[in-house]
Formats: sequence, C-alpha cells, structure tokens
Amino acid sequence: MKIAILGAGISGLSCGLKLNEFGFEDITIFEQDSQIGGLAKSRIKNGYVFDLHGGHVFNSNFPDVKTWVFNMLKQKDWKFQTRNTKILYGNRLINYPFEYALLELSEDEAIECVVDFITAKNKPKPDNYYNWLIYAFGDAIAHKYMIPYNEKIWAYNLKKMSIDWIDGKMPISNVKQIIASLLKRNSSKAEIPHATFYYPNKGGIQSLINIMAKNIKAEIVTECTVVDIDKIKRKFIINGQDKFDLIISTICLRDLIEAVRGLSVSVRKKAADLKYNSLTTAFCKCAKNDISWFYIPDKKIRAHRVSYQGNLSSFNCPSGNGSSATLEMIGMTDPEQDAKEFNRYRKIDNLKVRNIIDSAFVKYAYIIFDKGYKHNLDSINKCLDNYGILRTGRFAEWKYYNMDVCMKRAFDTAGDITRKYK
Ligand SMILES: Cc1cc2nc3c(=O)[nH]c(=O)nc-3n(C[C@H](O)[C@H](O)[C@H](O)COP(=O)(O)OP(=O)(O)OC[C@H]3O[C@@H](n4cnc5c(N)ncnc54)[C@H](O)[C@@H]3O)c2cc1C
Repeated sequence: MKIAILGAGISGLSCGLKLNEFGFEDITIFEQDSQIGGLAKSRIKNGYVFDLHGGHVFNSNFPDVKTWVFNMLKQKDWKFQTRNTKILYGNRLINYPFEYALLELSEDEAIECVVDFITAKNKPKPDNYYNWLIYAFGDAIAHKYMIPYNEKIWAYNLKKMSIDWIDGKMPISNVKQIIASLLKRNSSKAEIPHATFYYPNKGGIQSLINIMAKNIKAEIVTECTVVDIDKIKRKFIINGQDKFDLIISTICLRDLIEAVRGLSVSVRKKAADLKYNSLTTAFCKCAKNDISWFYIPDKKIRAHRVSYQGNLSSFNCPSGNGSSATLEMIGMTDPEQDAKEFNRYRKIDNLKVRNIIDSAFVKYAYIIFDKGYKHNLDSINKCLDNYGILRTGRFAEWKYYNMDVCMKRAFDTAGDITRKYK
C-alpha cells in the first residue's frame, strides 16, 4: 500500500513512525520547506540555539507518548525543569498565573480581584470568549490581565470568539487556591498544569525531529509543496505525478482544500473563512536570569511573550555569553523595530534585550476560534471524509494541539489505518 503523508512536522513524522511500527513502509512524506519540523524547528546561529517559532518544551499526560518519545531521545538527553513563568504587570514582573499572584498586587487590588472572582459566577453563562474571561476570573482579573493579554495574542475581537475550544486549554482556577496563595503568602507554590517540562540538552527541539527522521522508514521529499490533489479510479495523484492509495494530511486545512480538485465553491469558501494568526520571532542576546518565559499584557509593547531559550538548556548559548531571549509577536512585523520598541519601554531596564541575532516568521501559528469556525469545520470535515483524505495534527484538524497531543492523534490515525487495511 502506497501512503503519502503531507507535511514533515511532529504530526507527519509521528504518523509515519507509527505506521512503520504497524508494518507499513511504502511511505512518502512531502514537505514544502527545506528544513523538516514544521512549528518545531530549531536553528543554530553564532553558537546560539533557537527554536524558530518560540521555545518548544515537552511534557505529556499520555504515558504512551512519553515512553515513545524517551525511547527515541533518551530521558538523559533532556533537561527536566520546573517552569518559572512571570507576567510583566506595569513596571515589574509578578508570578504566573495572575490569579495566584494577587499578594504581589496592592491590598486594595487583591481584595477587588478576590471579591470579583467569587461573585463572577452569579453572572449569566457567557456565549463569547470576552464574557467567558469575566465569568471565569471576575471583572478585576479579567480587565487587569486576561483581556488585554488575550486581545494581544488573538489580535481578534474576543466578543466574536467562541468558547467551545477552551476545555482543557484554559486552566480553571479555584477560589481555595487563590485564598491559600494569599494567606500562605506564597504565590510561586500554586499548583499549575504543566508546572514541569523537559527540553533537549543539545540542539533544541530539532534534535527530537532529527532523531524521528533518522528512525523513519519513509522517503522524505523536502521543498515540495503539495498544490494539486486528484483522485482517479481510487488512486490519489499528487502534483500530477505520484500515485498513492492513501493520503494523510498534516497541512493546514485551508491549503488542503485549495489543493484538492473538484470540490464545491461552497466548501472552498468555508476553508478560506477559517481564521488564524501568524507569528514573528526575534532572537536576541540578553543578560542571564532564571526565567523560563514571561507574558506581556501591555499593549504599548508589540511582543506578547518573551521566552528565554538560553535558560532552557545551558547548551543553547555559547559558554559564558549570558542568555538568549525570543520576542514573540503576532503577525508579520519588523523584528528589529519590535526589539527596539521593547527596549524603549524604560521601566524594564533589567530585561532589555541586546542585539538581534536572527528572526523568523511562520504563517500558521495559532488557530482563531471565531464563532463561525465550527460550522465551517463540520462542512469541511464531511467533504474530506467523503473524498477519503485522512487528517491528523494541529492545523489539519483545526484543534489547539500541543506536540504531545499531535503525537497521540498520530498514534490513533496510524491505528485506524492498520485496523482498516491490515
Ligand atoms: C509559539 C508556539 C509555541 C509552542 N510551544 C509549544 C511547546 O512549548 N510545547 C508543545 O508541546 N507545543 C507547542 N506548540 C505547539 C506545537 O508547535 C504544535 O502542536 C506542533 O508543532 C504541530 O505540529 P504539526 O505537525 O501538526 O503541524 P506543523 O508543525 O504546522 O507541520 C505541518 C508541516 O506541513 C508542511 N506543509 C504545509 N503545507 C504544505 C504543503 N502544501 N505541502 C507540503 N508541506 C506542507 C509545513 O511546512 C510543516 O512542516 C507551540 C506552538 C506555537 C505556535
């Protein structure tokens, strides 16, 4: 059976490897870029290691995913660490999450936050993300942090966003922990999901990708964009050349629909209506610190997050050379300008970044779950199911997946194929 996988990111590679385990070996992976890894790529420049599209750390609640990953890149080759994340609140850094760091605010602000948190649940159940943030956190926390930060990262009207994607993605805080963090006067001890994580000792997240590619029994064709898919007599024809019995797509649904011949105008319109955000990253040298990353709700600064990739592994920086920071900005921006603007914000002198070493851009970074997405997605899925193209992965399924969930989904997809065709 000849299988084509579209995209050599985490999902495409995981699916290929799992199919190998189940006995499929006639696999071709088409990748548009010259470098494999998708969102999980790294680059080495002047001795600094950068994950191109924001620092990619690994952990998973799926034991089979963890075992599988550590069978490839051994556990000793990862640095296990505790997350030290902050929020730039006004002119200082406070602990993350905001609701458990209220003791770092003034007494009046903290009281306002607690009271609003407790009374928020008396409000009507929300039907959009903006109101959900108020419902879940109360007016004060929502307006001081949640809403401004979310307006930056989504760059979309929060009142036009749905809430059905939130489950499992947005940690729900509880009043007991809010009060405990205040009374025990310790915000950093709050239990948060993903409080610990692993990061490769050497080579950034690319080292995981590279080992996956080394192990896989498949032909990986890079610099090959899939732009045309046809189906003749139950065979799929990709870019007018190669014939396959099965296609598994991990590429963005918008582009997949565009490539498939003979689909209705209506479904094409629905795919084109799926909304997403792009991401620009600026890699900079900076002074040493112990922060994993921090969030910036302040709209005067374009960056919404700074991740200290130099702190994720000591091998990410040339020895004795301070640390490195990645500024993350939504959209296509001018990274030099963004870094200057970040530094101009005088109140954060000790966080200033030094010269930019490099920058990157990725078109598909975040899915925007607008109110119409579900309706569009249902029609698109129905159409692709009828056509017979399988989908697995973040933009292929239009789900807010992290790497481990992409792997889990790839396992499921490979399992389904095995049950059907073996
Ligand atoms: C800023 C940011 C930070 C993140 N941090 C973390 C983290 O710390 N931990 C974590 O677990 N997850 C993190 N994630 C999520 C993680 O990046 C994704 O879940 C995962 O990488 C998605 O993998 P994928 O293979 O499904 O998609 P992608 O990585 O998008 O891969 C799709 C591949 O298909 C290729 N492609 C696209 N179109 C075509 C075409 N027409 N023809 C051929 N090839 C094509 C692309 O070039 C790409 O290589 C983060 C995401 C972002 C945006």
